[in-house]
Amino acid sequence: MQPCIFCRIVEGAIPTPFVYKDDEIVAFSDIQPQAPVHLLVVPRRHVGSLNEADDDMLLGRLLASARKAAAQAGLEQYRIVVNTGADAGQSVLHLHLHVLGGRVMAWPPG
Ligand code: 5GP
Ligand code: ZN
Repeated sequence: MQPCIFCRIVEGAIPTPFVYKDDEIVAFSDIQPQAPVHLLVVPRRHVGSLNEADDDMLLGRLLASARKAAAQAGLEQYRIVVNTGADAGQSVLHLHLHVLGGRVMAWPPG
């Protein structure tokens, strides 16, 4: 099995600056940003997707951390996205929230 890229980032095997971190969660910039600010908010513990998340407290903390990371990045207006499953665009099978901001967003998303 391929090592999970976000687990490797969390453990420091791929040097990545964290814009936010606590004992459960880290946030860092997306390598292929889709907006002027594009952060990923990731639980340190491996969880495959939102469908596999069994800890509601963690889900609440992820959302609160996304807000903190957005504020840290100077965003007051932003979009949070959680792609879940291949059809929804999930490519990394480790739960993450996208925080996108710094430009006007279109709706509906593609
Ligand atoms: P998904 O498509 O699963 O919703 O989002 C995965 C995101 O992870 C993509 O936006 C992709 O650009 C980002 N990504 C993939 N590999 C890396 C990496 O090694 N470092 C960082 N910072 N982002 C990554
Ligand atoms: Zn992982």
